[in-house]
Amino acid sequence: MRADADFLRSIPKVELHCHLEGAVPATTAIALACKNGIILPTYDPELLYTFADLPEFLTVYRAVCASMVTARDFAEIAYAAQEEGVRTGNLRYRELFVNPTNHHVPYPEMLEGIIDGLRCAEEDFGVVGRVIPAINREQSPSMARELVEAVIEYRRDEVLGIGLDHNDALGPPELFVDAFQVAANAGLRRTAHAGEIDQRDQVIDSIELLGCERIDHGYAVMSDPVAVEFVRDAGTHFAGCWSSCAWFHPGLPQHSLPIAAMLRAGLPVSINSDDPPMFGTGIGNEYVLAGKTLGWTRAQAIQAAVAAVDGSWMDASDKAALRREIEDVMHTA
Ligand SMILES: [Zn+2]
Repeated sequence: MRADADFLRSIPKVELHCHLEGAVPATTAIALACKNGIILPTYDPELLYTFADLPEFLTVYRAVCASMVTARDFAEIAYAAQEEGVRTGNLRYRELFVNPTNHHVPYPEMLEGIIDGLRCAEEDFGVVGRVIPAINREQSPSMARELVEAVIEYRRDEVLGIGLDHNDALGPPELFVDAFQVAANAGLRRTAHAGEIDQRDQVIDSIELLGCERIDHGYAVMSDPVAVEFVRDAGTHFAGCWSSCAWFHPGLPQHSLPIAAMLRAGLPVSINSDDPPMFGTGIGNEYVLAGKTLGWTRAQAIQAAVAAVDGSWMDASDKAALRREIEDVMHTA
């Protein structure tokens, strides 16, 4: 039986690639900026999330980051992001990126706010939230190392690992070997954005040099069969994002997107929303786009949701429980 939009939205979901600061509705970002006296490029919610390319997108993203100033602000946006995921896509578990070095708030204060918001959302909606502090690769390797050291010093159970994001053209993986080694030594899990548009070699370097077990995006490997075989052998999970992939590959029809090719090739790929309001999407909508484009049956949609569980950093018993919950949808729907 084909998976229709209602079914795709209703599947219990795990999300592995969503940026906290990219999950703030435009109205909330504007309200926070006004409260904290922060200058935004525009105060029109219809226009705030408009951009022409990755550098412009990141300029808007950084302006939104600046509008969060207090622990309470972080708690508020973490709670709202989780609530939105539950409401629009039956989100059950999410690992959220945050860019601590994009803010002028001490890391422990920011983290306490985020954890507070995630715990409140878990109490109210039953959704679990975990945190992945991400290195901004446009900043220096020494800042990256300091961030990892802060993550280790203020270790909390909710923080599972580290990420690496922002413009990959401005920060190749080899610059961050030291920071990732410090993280590995402390038992932190590791993922990195790589190969979102091109730069296929950065996918391989992130796996080989940084020890990443997961890659965010990574679509560029699809241009090279040897790279595909390499990532298959490495067992790498790809945290893909349908809408942002479409946005950064303009002119390609949905079925020709590299994320579609990855899914068709049977690579371990999860479907994620990246920066949901900034790309006009949500975790439920991402499944609808993928499912409709690829003509998923209900069983294939369930398989996709289970792939996200498998790629997550939950412990084995939590994974088993969520797998069961997802597979049960087949029997109850
Ligand atoms: Zn991302």
